[in-house]
Amino acid sequence: DWTILVELDKKHFLHPTSSIKEQQKEGPALIFTEGNGIYLKDTDGKEYIDGLSSLWNVNIGHGREELGKVSMEQISKLGFSSTFATFSHEPAIRLAAKIAEITPEGLNTTFFTSGGSESNDTAFKLVRHYWKLRGKPEKKKIVSRRKSYHGVAMGATSATGLKPFRDFTTSLAPDFYYVDSNLEEFKAFIQKEGAETIAAFISEPIQGTGGVHLPPQDYFKEIKAICEQYNILFIADEVITGFGRTGTYFGVEQFGIVPDLMSVAKGITSGYAALGGVIISSKIHNDLIELSDGLFMHGYTYSGHPTACAIALKNIEIIEREGLVNNSKVMGEEMLDGFKWLQQEHEIIGEVRGLGLMGAIEIVKDKKTNERFNEPFAPKIVSESLKRGLIHRGVVYEGADTLIFAPPLIIDKYGINKMINILNEAIGTVNRECSV
Ligand code: PLP
Repeated sequence: DWTILVELDKKHFLHPTSSIKEQQKEGPALIFTEGNGIYLKDTDGKEYIDGLSSLWNVNIGHGREELGKVSMEQISKLGFSSTFATFSHEPAIRLAAKIAEITPEGLNTTFFTSGGSESNDTAFKLVRHYWKLRGKPEKKKIVSRRKSYHGVAMGATSATGLKPFRDFTTSLAPDFYYVDSNLEEFKAFIQKEGAETIAAFISEPIQGTGGVHLPPQDYFKEIKAICEQYNILFIADEVITGFGRTGTYFGVEQFGIVPDLMSVAKGITSGYAALGGVIISSKIHNDLIELSDGLFMHGYTYSGHPTACAIALKNIEIIEREGLVNNSKVMGEEMLDGFKWLQQEHEIIGEVRGLGLMGAIEIVKDKKTNERFNEPFAPKIVSESLKRGLIHRGVVYEGADTLIFAPPLIIDKYGINKMINILNEAIGTVNRECSV
């Protein structure tokens, strides 16, 4: 009897990023029971295309028995042991080596975490530790971009540019600063604050939560050059863009740069276990080895969880065996073509964009001026899509009215067409009902 679950949920379960009041009144809108490929199934047996790969993470799709098998084997053999200090185990060692093989040249060493927020907090502590060891303890400011999302740990929250993720609480970690996605502002910031006070710049290769914003093609090359000029470390937050999402293994490959540090999570296990990591360059690693003067007093109980690492290894094996990085590129083009067709069909669609299987549709009142509706349409469209069996997200914070998508990397033409057809109906319905 599922109604019992609804009551228990209302009473005992505080949901992440939820409206606490509504949640208590209404309970969960959907309770999922199963997943298979690009589909999720709810308690009524209704199927939905998981158009955001749940939380941008289920890259290889749902219901992979191979991962069930590998986790059972690992749990039965060695469910947990520590990687602190001098202890280690095979799954973490092999995963660290595999990551060195697949990440851009020069990134060779991984610190494991349990997710993206922890990865970014680790990166912030690592860069500050690094500069401290190099005799520059005042080099501690972290600069991020205004529409960025870097997670919810205190450091990650403080680096997050999107205000709604910061404003509900009263104080943040010190030494975090935001700049617009424009090179002049970054340069002016460096002039004003002094490069000797800035530890690192962090950016998502493509902003995800902010609404799938792609940078100009040369943006990161120029940012990287500025960082090098001023001795500022560059952290790429690849939590969403890693592991094939954009049609290359990692997002930075699209822009021809190699970061000094790279945060990963999500697609590293396709969500089958909680795992993240920070991958550092050999240069940083070597400097740390040389200058290290005691213990690096940082580590999570689940840093390098053996079962999570075994799952990650199998997940990466599947990504490679099934050619999912390339499928992301090919199906991404298909999805973008679908968005362009929708743009022709509907007067309320402004810009459409995407790279690999990460895409966005802007809703506008006027295509020519890009003027928005007073009340955003995105939530209504999301709800109409849901009725028709498609899950995706609407972004409405900071003035946006945007639909965002990131289906599993296994999606085929049939799946893309189904998504586009549902969207066509959902957008048409909302436009008819709301424009009158
Ligand atoms: N960084 C980026 C770019 C993300 O999109 C996310 C999550 O959506 C995070 C960090 C935080 O990761 P987690 O939710 O695993 O802590």
